[in-house]
Amino acid sequence: MDLYEYQARELFEAHGVPVLRGLVAQSPEQARQAAEELGGGTVVVKAQVKTGGRGKAGGVKLAHSPDEAAVAADQILGLDIKGHPVRRVMVAEGADIAEEYYFSLLLDRAERNYLAMCSREGGMDIEQLAEERPEALAKVAVDPLVGIDDDKAGEILEAAGFGVRDAVRIAPVLKQLWQVYRDEDATLVEVNPLVKTAEGVILALDGKVSLDENASFRHPEHEQLVDAEAADPLEARAKEKGLNYVKLDGQVGVIGNGAGLVMSTLDVVAAAGEDLPGQPRPANFLDIGGGASSTVMANGLDIVLSDDQVQSVFVNVFGGITACSEVANGIVVALNELGERASKPLVVRLDGNSVDVGRAILAEYDHPKVTVVATMDEAARAAAELAANTSTN
Ligand code: GDP
Ligand code: MN
Repeated sequence: MDLYEYQARELFEAHGVPVLRGLVAQSPEQARQAAEELGGGTVVVKAQVKTGGRGKAGGVKLAHSPDEAAVAADQILGLDIKGHPVRRVMVAEGADIAEEYYFSLLLDRAERNYLAMCSREGGMDIEQLAEERPEALAKVAVDPLVGIDDDKAGEILEAAGFGVRDAVRIAPVLKQLWQVYRDEDATLVEVNPLVKTAEGVILALDGKVSLDENASFRHPEHEQLVDAEAADPLEARAKEKGLNYVKLDGQVGVIGNGAGLVMSTLDVVAAAGEDLPGQPRPANFLDIGGGASSTVMANGLDIVLSDDQVQSVFVNVFGGITACSEVANGIVVALNELGERASKPLVVRLDGNSVDVGRAILAEYDHPKVTVVATMDEAARAAAELAANTSTN
């Protein structure tokens, strides 16, 4: 889960990372009040969107009075930054910047380790720096069991080319950022820019934090960081029901058991749709898991059919732990419950554990919208064709 800058700022503050005060505003008037609350002096008004390059896109403006802050907020609210509408701004105390640096700590999946990156040339686009002048961006491996201690901080800062005087000031901040990373179970903590002010104070002026959702069971407090407004409503509903659902933008709903099977189902559906009119594509990923009950099947079908773009549904189950009879019962329960709402054709491929019973249940039910197809490829083609026919009619 990616956090907004204002949320990152709050986490930083809670862990003692030096930051300036900042308040969230949703209207020019709120921005004016925020600027007043911050003392009425110079503030920065910053778009709160989960993407970088806000500065270049006009989403970061200095304001020298509360009135100017309101004007700046008026200009920024409603901007669209790389497809992200700006709904909120953060009004933060202005800093007198002498130098801008870069620091990040991230999960290095390829090396199965943590990696710190640091540069004396921050503020700008770090991808560009990494490409054009890779020598200016230090990369130092960080042992997860040790983290960033004095030695590691010294190593990182020396590799980045900092002199001793600056390194002594910056090292404590790197250690605090490590604590954020470790204690919050983050996969990314990035500060760009990390600044030195005219008075020589080090401050984290921008923050980007991604939290590891696999660790959310240890962090009930992270629940409040979820942005319900921006979440896809279907994904939110699926999550409430404990379903592993990801919305995509095609027309063929997909339900399967096991992430691997569902992934390959997406591939065969996409391949089957390629040569068809309108090129129907998978509408979603939905893994009902091993040992799924008929209720789970019913919930899943309900979610998939709630997607208005869906024109057909492909249920692809290989009975292992999940018996095909359970799945067939689930389909019957779901269709009975959904009644009129089950308006889209269903292509079902069952194989494995109790397949004969499963197929017999569906044959007996004899629902006009359900077609049982023997193989995965044929079923994918049938589902894609149904979606293609409906989308071109
Ligand atoms: P980004 O463009 O999305 O990364 O947004 P940042 O928060 O990094 O802001 C972009 C740039 O705005 C920074 O690199 C700074 O140069 C400038 N900036 C941000 N906050 C302040 C501030 O308090 N004072 C001054 N003078 N400049 C700031
Ligand atoms: Mn930045």
